[in-house]
Amino acid sequence: MQPEWRKWLSETLNTAVRFDEPMAAHTALGVGGPAWAYAAPESLSQLRKLVKGAAQRQIPCWVIGSGSNLLVRDRGIPGLVICLHRCLSRIEETGRGRKAMVSAMAGVRLPVLCGYAQRRGFAGLEFAWGIPGTVGGAVFMNAGTASGTMADVVQSVSVLLPGNRIQRLEKEALSFSYRRLSCPVPDWDRGGAIILEASLGLRPENPGVLREKAVRILRQRRETQPVSAKSAGSFFKNPIGGKTAGELLDRAGLKGMTIGGAQISPKHANFIINLGNASAADVLALMETARQAVLEKFGVYLETEVKIVGE
Ligand SMILES: Cc1cc2nc3c(=O)[nH]c(=O)nc-3n(C[C@H](O)[C@H](O)[C@H](O)COP(=O)(O)OP(=O)(O)OC[C@H]3O[C@@H](n4cnc5c(N)ncnc54)[C@H](O)[C@@H]3O)c2cc1C
Repeated sequence: MQPEWRKWLSETLNTAVRFDEPMAAHTALGVGGPAWAYAAPESLSQLRKLVKGAAQRQIPCWVIGSGSNLLVRDRGIPGLVICLHRCLSRIEETGRGRKAMVSAMAGVRLPVLCGYAQRRGFAGLEFAWGIPGTVGGAVFMNAGTASGTMADVVQSVSVLLPGNRIQRLEKEALSFSYRRLSCPVPDWDRGGAIILEASLGLRPENPGVLREKAVRILRQRRETQPVSAKSAGSFFKNPIGGKTAGELLDRAGLKGMTIGGAQISPKHANFIINLGNASAADVLALMETARQAVLEKFGVYLETEVKIVGE
């Protein structure tokens, strides 16, 4: 990173920036080389100053949530990584009635939001129990399960554009699809905007009923997924129609296959887990081997659900 960028970042953020920060420490899979700089701004105004200044200096920037859907390559990220959990952490009830409205900022952890909704008796987010990550990441990824996705509850989204303008996008302007949100914003897919907040439409429900559902969903996850291992969740997208990615990988006999420190989980074949000392190269090699095996056996090319980034 250029020395003058480093100086500007240190002056702007003080202790809220770290240089040459290993991304393995900020991803659920626990692999990944260093980012030039890793910033956790403390307020919205500091975030805006950071984004504006970085755009003026043309510093490559990239926002992350909890890193629960990321595979960062071993040589790391040549740019500034911005994390929002310190500056955008508020949840607010904004309306009650037949529809309960909740505003959740992008840095709020999804499990925290689920707990908030359960205690207040707001239904609609049950599908999200057990999904790690932040509200920003969940909206960007349209996170979900067979029983629901963020698309079902998001009513509007506020985004920060590189010119430092904040824009509110209503539901009609948001185009959700399988593990993807597309917005009418320039360069959306290349980090053209930062999600700041999402407004969610939920329904009143008995908190006890919601608690029981949560317990059931979490138990089911523990029984079927390697929830305590280091992973990035489902590695491949489910192909349209037919068998799930997990079923194809399982039938190809891949459960338990290991390369270096990376393993196809013996519990759920669509989870690649880090046994403790995996490198990104191990995970990528295992991914390619598994993909090739499924292609040869079933003629299906599996696309990754996990975002692969860095050098
Ligand atoms: C054990 C386990 C289980 C999982 N189960 C599920 C599941 O059931 N369903 C499911 O859908 N996913 C699942 N996942 C994957 C992951 O938790 C979700 O994709 C989650 O929504 C990612 O959120 P995050 O904050 O960690 O985003 P990250 O992984 O940090 O980022 C993901 C993408 O979102 C972008 N992004 C993050 N925040 C913002 C923002 N504020 N503005 C703009 N872009 C942003 C990033 O740039 C990146 O492209 C699982 C993961 C694990 C480890």
